[in-house]
Amino acid sequence: MSRSDDVLIVGAGQAAAQLACSLREAGHQGSITLVGDEPAPPYQRPPLSKGFLTGAADEDSLALRAPGYWQANGIDLLLGETVVEVDRGAGAGGRALTASGRELVFDRLVLATGAAPRRLDVPGAQADGVVVLRTLADAADLRRRLATARDVVVVGGGFVGLEVAATATVLGARVTVLEAGPRILGRAVSEATSRYLTDHHRATGIAVHTDVSVTEIVSAGAGRVVAVRTADREIPADLVLVGVGADPRCELAERLGLQVDDGIVVDEHLLASDGTTIAIGDCAVAVDPTPWADLDASAPCRVRLESVDHAVTQAASAVRTVLGEPSPHVSVPWFWSDQGTAKLQIVGLRRPGDRATVRPAGPGRLVVGFHRAGRLVAAEVVGSPADFMALRTLLGAGHPVPADVFADGDVVLRQLAKDARQGSISAC
Ligand SMILES: Cc1cc2nc3c(=O)[nH]c(=O)nc-3n(C[C@H](O)[C@H](O)[C@H](O)COP(=O)(O)OP(=O)(O)OC[C@H]3O[C@@H](n4cnc5c(N)ncnc54)[C@H](O)[C@@H]3O)c2cc1C
Repeated sequence: MSRSDDVLIVGAGQAAAQLACSLREAGHQGSITLVGDEPAPPYQRPPLSKGFLTGAADEDSLALRAPGYWQANGIDLLLGETVVEVDRGAGAGGRALTASGRELVFDRLVLATGAAPRRLDVPGAQADGVVVLRTLADAADLRRRLATARDVVVVGGGFVGLEVAATATVLGARVTVLEAGPRILGRAVSEATSRYLTDHHRATGIAVHTDVSVTEIVSAGAGRVVAVRTADREIPADLVLVGVGADPRCELAERLGLQVDDGIVVDEHLLASDGTTIAIGDCAVAVDPTPWADLDASAPCRVRLESVDHAVTQAASAVRTVLGEPSPHVSVPWFWSDQGTAKLQIVGLRRPGDRATVRPAGPGRLVVGFHRAGRLVAAEVVGSPADFMALRTLLGAGHPVPADVFADGDVVLRQLAKDARQGSISAC
């Protein structure tokens, strides 16, 4: 690759925007084109389930860059355009076609197509008032509906659903969460954190039910939702938020014949199976990026992460690949979620066999660490940003923080992190 190659990025979300900006900052001289099927310039999604719904954040505040940034930096933004076809040439280049008939020639193709929310597949799921949340348009619709909703049912106890549940409660609605699994956030966090957050949400008045599957959405004559039916109950609802996860958008990758397995499969340089197309962000499934990925006997597993940090750090690694200076994508991912007044922060990647240790943390706080082969590999923190920052530093510095040290409430994590930063304790 050369610095003068023309780069086409499909998608204009977090990962795409970061790649475009970082490429320019790194001195890339070829054209950079972002094609996004949404009408808005690149924006942050996290506030969509938080401040945007309460009115604390408006549309302008979501923008990832000031309005003049793109033009000033020679980045072409094609918005409201869907890339529907890609023809490959012999090498990395080719041409893409949008739904409106535009043809775009490129030397390097990047897929940053994100993910699409899953829908409910039960009778009545098309009723008016049954919504999902992914885009700014979804959020604007949800905000309008929340203004008058009295009974809100959230289907799915995942991050987005629970954030909306907490927000709807603050806005005065009666809220019920229906989770099909045995606990909320079952795949994402440990049992300890799940339990803590269940208690937290219940204490604010949210009815949290687990092991419950929706069997039908009941609507009135005009097609408006009036209730959600499960095997043993009917819950009144004038608004139903379906938060049952998102599927990676792999349509183009499949058409290009790229390997897809719950995401576009990429190597450590973010290259897809053809060796030239780059895929980043929510749509990509990559080798575990943590420095200790191969600590256990099993082969390094692939992960598909949906988080801002992951989109941003993958974009940074993709810059090196585009510029022809590839180096493996290694990072210690982190994530946050505002569960009402409880701020959850996660660092590192936990695997099923990791040993969980709950650290004494005081009221309103939870600090859980995960150890693999004797070293700290991940942590979940609620209500203690200082501990979270310390743990991020320690993991980033490669400090092992043995389980007995982690569990010792007299050990001040901030001090340990300070020592690690100053190099007075060695990394492993
Ligand atoms: C409601 C909500 C709350 C969240 N909260 C948090 C949080 O608190 N913390 C956190 O870390 N993460 C959070 N996330 C996750 C985070 O926002 C995503 O991980 C991040 O946006 C992923 O960026 P991306 O660029 O991969 O995908 P996206 O931001 O989804 O961008 C992909 C874009 O590509 C477009 N596209 C797809 N196919 C085509 C095509 N063929 N042609 C043109 N355009 C196309 C899509 O429409 C989309 O606009 C949240 C997500 C949501 C939805």
